Amino acid sequence: MRPAERTKRIKPYLFARLDELKREATERGVRVIDFGKGDPDQPTPEHIVGRLKRAASNPRYHRYPPYAGLPELKEAAADYYRRRFGVELDPEREVLVLIGSKEGLTHLIWAYTNEGDPVLLPDPAYPVYEAQVLLIGGRPSTIPLLMENDFVPDLAAINPGEAQRAPLMIVNYPHNPTGAVVDQAFFRDAVGFAHKHDLVLCNDFAYAETTFDGYRAPSVLSVEGSKECAVESYSLSKPFNMTGWRIGFLVGNAGVIAEVGKLKSNMDSGQFGAIQEAAIEALTNDPQRVFDRANQVYARRRDMVLKTLAELQLEAADMKATFYTWLVVPDGHTSESFAMDLLEKEGILVAPGNGYGAAGEGYVRLALTLPDEDIDEGMKRLRRYFVR
Ligand code: PMP
Repeated sequence: MRPAERTKRIKPYLFARLDELKREATERGVRVIDFGKGDPDQPTPEHIVGRLKRAASNPRYHRYPPYAGLPELKEAAADYYRRRFGVELDPEREVLVLIGSKEGLTHLIWAYTNEGDPVLLPDPAYPVYEAQVLLIGGRPSTIPLLMENDFVPDLAAINPGEAQRAPLMIVNYPHNPTGAVVDQAFFRDAVGFAHKHDLVLCNDFAYAETTFDGYRAPSVLSVEGSKECAVESYSLSKPFNMTGWRIGFLVGNAGVIAEVGKLKSNMDSGQFGAIQEAAIEALTNDPQRVFDRANQVYARRRDMVLKTLAELQLEAADMKATFYTWLVVPDGHTSESFAMDLLEKEGILVAPGNGYGAAGEGYVRLALTLPDEDIDEGMKRLRRYFVR
């Protein structure tokens, strides 16, 4: 058997490797406190589950769904964007339903990258962007996100020749893994940059609603002129505790939506209609109440963790959004050596920062998607690790 060359360009998925490490430690009898994967531990709200149950018996959904998604969901997405972000969308031309945003981002990259093209990507970042660029034979052209710049790219420092050749730039605010945020002014600059270099700008908006302390994340599409060059992928996974459901949507520039839709309809046949109907329920039935409840839980956990880090004089990024703590590793350690040492000595699983790109070296990421008791236990173990 001869696997294709392209799969040799990518590494096993970071979180699949972490799952493996966890399994090995568990087999050794360790109760692992898992700060690895960001996957909400709270259940999907009952009203959304109930709607799925009822919709599942509707024969309309037992057949293939429309390729671009249920028209009613596209309308609900457009209504939601109007109410939440003040953005007008044409549900027909400017909304595409996704089987989760991982799928949408993948197809976006495939639809816009030729072999050899540089694609402007943040570093550190969600590893899927880089993997897809490599799979298609493109070249990740990374923009380092530095703590001294609050993990926001310096657009003026991007090589103009590289920008001119790049068909696509991805940004991701609120940002995984650093928890960084931007204001609308940054998106204005990014849209200006995309216009100037004639590239597609995509904001990965997976953490749109996971924000704290009164901060509300803006949509890139709230910038004037953005629809001429920009798209945004919105996911129901994190805000509604629906990671297992696989539902989201891509919104924005009609040409990009059509192009991704064309590729996608040759690759998959859309999400189960009943899940799409449940997504309508999520978007229309007081979503803010769902976000407030979840964010209260994450803010409490964030405070528990940041308090311990401060006690231990460890440095972490400001955490205005997402459920990730981005922690500077102690002197003498690399991301990997610190992560491995925490796992071996205390059974604490964290994600090594270098798994998110070269600029992630020197950090580890803690996902706060585990019960408060486990966070408490994790912090006890962390204190013990540092006072031994
Ligand atoms: N983007 C980012 C930045 C993420 O962290 C994730 C999930 N961890 C995704 C996209 C994918 O989310 P989903 O496919 O569940 O919508």
